[in-house]
Amino acid sequence: MDGSNLPEVRSTCAYCGVGCGVLLRPDGAGGLTVRGDPDHPANFGRLCSKGTALGETVGLDHRLLAPRAFGRDLGWDDALQLVADRFRETIAAHGPDSVAFYVSGQLLTEDYYVANKLMKGFIGSANIDTNSRLCMASTVAGHKRAFGTDTVPGTYEDLDQADLVVLVGSNLAWCHPVLYQRVLAARQARGTRIVVIDPRRTASCDQADLHLALNPGSDVALFNGLLTEIHRRGAVDPDFVKQTSGLEAALETAGNDQISETGLPAEKRAAFFDLWINTPRVVTVFSQGVNQSSSGTDKVNAILNCHLATGRIGRPGMGPFSVTGQPNAMGGREVGGLANTLACHLDIENADHRAAVQAYWQSPAIPQSSGLKAVDMFRAVEDGQIKALWIIHTNPAVTMPEAGRVTRAIAACPFTVVSDLTLHTDTARLADVVLPAAGWAEKNGTVTNSDRTISRQRAVLQPPGQARPDWDILAEVGRRMGWKTAFDYASPAEIFREYAAMSQIAARFGKDLDISGFSDIDEAGYAELEPTRWPLGRKRAGGRFFGDGHFFHSDRKARIVPVGHRRPAALPGQQYPFVMNTGRTRDQWHTMTRTGLSARLSAHLAEPFVDIHPQDAAREGISSADLVEVTSRIGRGIFRARITQDVRIGHVFAPIHWTAETAPSGRVDMLVPGTTDPISGQPESKATPVSISVMQAA
Ligand code: SF4
Repeated sequence: MDGSNLPEVRSTCAYCGVGCGVLLRPDGAGGLTVRGDPDHPANFGRLCSKGTALGETVGLDHRLLAPRAFGRDLGWDDALQLVADRFRETIAAHGPDSVAFYVSGQLLTEDYYVANKLMKGFIGSANIDTNSRLCMASTVAGHKRAFGTDTVPGTYEDLDQADLVVLVGSNLAWCHPVLYQRVLAARQARGTRIVVIDPRRTASCDQADLHLALNPGSDVALFNGLLTEIHRRGAVDPDFVKQTSGLEAALETAGNDQISETGLPAEKRAAFFDLWINTPRVVTVFSQGVNQSSSGTDKVNAILNCHLATGRIGRPGMGPFSVTGQPNAMGGREVGGLANTLACHLDIENADHRAAVQAYWQSPAIPQSSGLKAVDMFRAVEDGQIKALWIIHTNPAVTMPEAGRVTRAIAACPFTVVSDLTLHTDTARLADVVLPAAGWAEKNGTVTNSDRTISRQRAVLQPPGQARPDWDILAEVGRRMGWKTAFDYASPAEIFREYAAMSQIAARFGKDLDISGFSDIDEAGYAELEPTRWPLGRKRAGGRFFGDGHFFHSDRKARIVPVGHRRPAALPGQQYPFVMNTGRTRDQWHTMTRTGLSARLSAHLAEPFVDIHPQDAAREGISSADLVEVTSRIGRGIFRARITQDVRIGHVFAPIHWTAETAPSGRVDMLVPGTTDPISGQPESKATPVSISVMQAA
């Protein structure tokens, strides 16, 4: 059957936080044709390699078609009752904090909302955290410290309008390719200059005017140096800083930092300071290289401090800009998907916020404090404190640091449920119950991208077998646990309306997240919903925040936060002389459960590898394409050596994507310890001391 007569359906790419619009058309044989949506404000028709290959990843191979429990197929009725009963019994015996949900930025906002409501409002625990903890939790914490809320100040248009784009710990060219294309278009149109700040030479450096290969973890020292220089050259904006507090203390702390900690030559530092200070329209883009650090929150604030001191925020072409990793990482932040937040940017640690949310939900309970963040959650599973765990659309047996320990903990947990598309993940194999979930092209809902634009994902394919949308599975478990009315949802639009109406509560507390205009959206309106950036109700210049100098702390002022440089928690030494950095490749996504299905994408970089500098390779007797063993304090792996000057002497780089199924011995997650940022709880994934040696032939 040919699908060429079927209409194209507007939806959103399932991969990164750029949130590109796609036009999907079923091909009549279970597949899809995909092209970029020329009218979507994130991409205007552009797609990257992953987006164009979306249609190659929707086949039925590997799909889970029916619920399974303890190795046997089970009907939905029995499976859902089993899950509800075991969670209820565990809570009755051990209390609400004996259970946990670990969810994902792959969830749609409606799924996320129901999971959050079930755990926080009805089970009465805050033990729900998301794999976004591994991605941008440091940004959330940094935003809240500086602005009073987790608010992204700018928009994608700022990248088009900037004269200088600084990429800090962000390989935008590979990880957010369509945004990088926008930056290159701006370079073509207006001569926008590009600076890359990254220990590694990445694809993003190819078009850069300046690359600062700083020491890992020294971003605070660099941006404190910039803040000091801004002040020394009289570039502080005296009117704007009246809307802030903390500049004097931040300058004093910055002045005590040693800029030499960056390892950068003085002329490179000076070139960066000159460019930044002399270019009013500057956007500083930051990502995992900043966030995945034991000082990630401080790094975020060091960047925000420079923008706040100069008033370069919330105006066209200028501002700090955190780009999110997953398609709905931002939606998860908005609906309280993190263990320390409530929906609509309300705070779980605030008694008034808790009371208002509980009243709105008419719920029997609400936790009095934050729950367990991801690393601590799996340690609590290991300790036996968590006795029932539900993992949804994520693969922590691979993606968490200390993955071997996490794997053993999940295997030993008395009751584990996994909702996913497939049984073929390292985590699903460990579960007692596996529930077949609908995939991205099979379900309806919304996602929010990095610049706060809410877009629809639309179902264009039938879910295979018995697969169901996540909101439907979660709501049914909620009803079977005894809360029939609270989880009596008939459609994702109904959930979206309830969530949107919550933002009226947030507005009462002076919060930023205004989507209350959607609180009466009907089914037809939801079906036709156009990409829309919030806030909806208040006039903001171009959809930006803070250009007016109004922030969300109680005194309406921003905080310029004093932060001092700290080295990574573990440093290289005699036993482990190299620093291992980790990251993504261009064509793979997370643990390759979908991109790995595309032969075209898998052909780009087909096996686990480690990049090593030629001088280090020569000293260790390593030749190109040798198999090498990389060992850290907690584990070891085997990788193909690539000899390249893209990494510095004393550094190696390895990608994150391979799993027990795809490369059992080539997994970086087995090497990375679970050290976290003390504020955000985000793991330090980019600075692991390791040794490296060539494998001897048997
Ligand atoms: Fe999808 Fe991100 Fe590529 Fe856009 S840039 S097509 S959202 S993976």
